[in-house]
Amino acid sequence: MNAFYIEPGFTPSAFPTPSGLGRADLAKTIMALDHHAIVSIADRQGVITHVNDRFCAISGYERDELIGQRHSILKSGRHDAALYKDLWTTITAGRVWQGVICNRRKNGGVYWVQSTIMPIADDQGEIQEFVSVRTDITDRVQAQAHSSLLSQVLNQTEECVVVMDLDGRVVYANRAVEQALGFKASHMQGRQFAEFLPPALRRRCQMRLQNMRTCDFRWQGQLTMVREGGDHFISLSRVGVVANAAGLPTYVFNLFSDYAGELKRQADLRYAKECAEQASAAKSIFLSHVSHELRTPLNAVMGFAQLLAMGVGDARHASFAREILTAGRHLVCLIDDMLDLTKIESGHDALTMTGVDLAHTIGECVSLVQAMADARRISLATSLPEGALRVKADAVRLKQVLLNLLSNAIKYSHEMGDVCLRVVQPGNGRIRVSISDKGIGIKPEQLPSLFEPFNRLDAASRGIEGTGIGLAISKKLVEKMAGTIGVSSEQGQGSTFWIELDIFA
Ligand code: ADP
Repeated sequence: MNAFYIEPGFTPSAFPTPSGLGRADLAKTIMALDHHAIVSIADRQGVITHVNDRFCAISGYERDELIGQRHSILKSGRHDAALYKDLWTTITAGRVWQGVICNRRKNGGVYWVQSTIMPIADDQGEIQEFVSVRTDITDRVQAQAHSSLLSQVLNQTEECVVVMDLDGRVVYANRAVEQALGFKASHMQGRQFAEFLPPALRRRCQMRLQNMRTCDFRWQGQLTMVREGGDHFISLSRVGVVANAAGLPTYVFNLFSDYAGELKRQADLRYAKECAEQASAAKSIFLSHVSHELRTPLNAVMGFAQLLAMGVGDARHASFAREILTAGRHLVCLIDDMLDLTKIESGHDALTMTGVDLAHTIGECVSLVQAMADARRISLATSLPEGALRVKADAVRLKQVLLNLLSNAIKYSHEMGDVCLRVVQPGNGRIRVSISDKGIGIKPEQLPSLFEPFNRLDAASRGIEGTGIGLAISKKLVEKMAGTIGVSSEQGQGSTFWIELDIFA
């Protein structure tokens, strides 16, 4: 197909010839125009009579599909009717119309053209045709749209954005920078970015900039800047290089935000943690002193109560002495548990982690609580998989945890109940030991406070003996052994406490 296509009936003579140009020159001019632009001609009713190759290519229509149609076939719907009205009024009045139009392609996409529409009159001054010459400006329009979108984003973001050239001169600063530093962007533009740093940092900043000759340069860190008025602005800055189309570094950007708040938050957090640790250490020291101090007089009370119980003939007095002994034993348990908890909490209790034979440990624990189960006629069953099972644990502390869970299961079971200890390997490199009972169970709302020290839930009101520390100790110990502890329970139906520990490979 020729680049220049003349429809039958098209007469270049219809163009008013600029002075000095002959018809041959005009044809050449049109040919040149045809190479450069999107050209069409319409008759005075606006019906298309000629389109060049560029017109067909950009619109996606074949020439046959366009000839005989009006330009409205290309309407994109992006403009008001007023624009088309103005266009038509202008050209039918014999004047040239110029403007930007968005047209729709045959495939539905759009393109933008800078258009000039010129009416052509005959010798009598009657308009015969309209010649339209357009240039494709779609890329420019899209680039403008992107850049206006980007500038909106840059002006709305809370993140400060500064762009500088490779000599360190500010070429752009967004609204957030104005707010953070207090300078107008226009004041910053053209100045060295180093001017907005404390004097001690300026030289280092300039040297850094000189080293930013590679496009993959990135730096992130705390950078102090100087606000208008002189006070410091502590930023968390992310600095990088912008490359041009040839891949050469052209600009340097600094994206920064206020870091002072974050630093203060971190300092507050550190301070709060130190205070909590100090308070916890003070509490542990206090508890351990008190417990030790209580033990000595308590031993004396227990010793004399035992002598009394053995020596008194009066039954009433003997029962008083037994009461003293029972209460004293409870107090000894409480003190022992408290001492144990403070030792674990203060970290003075070093665990010896080894491979512990689980079956053996479970066997020992079961035989230790068997008498307690028998006394309440509770059946105690175990279910272990075949083969040797070793867990990573401290043998003594693991035994303590299992004994606590087993004795709880018995304590909180009904008379003649069932307690079962099961061992399974869930396949996550861990071994799970669960201890189930069909006892009193726990209310769902009490579950979250279950492992809190001294929280006995409803147990005290039921007259069941205990100190309320066992589970707190068990949780701390299991976690120290890199394990987890958990529970599922239904009030009135029973509970299952479980622990998971790593398999000792
Ligand atoms: P203690 O048994 O000495 O009170 P623990 O710390 O071992 O202390 O347990 C805390 C509380 O959790 C108990 O007082 C009891 O209310 C509840 N509890 C523990 N184990 C069970 C269980 N198997 N069934 C029902 N409640 C339980």
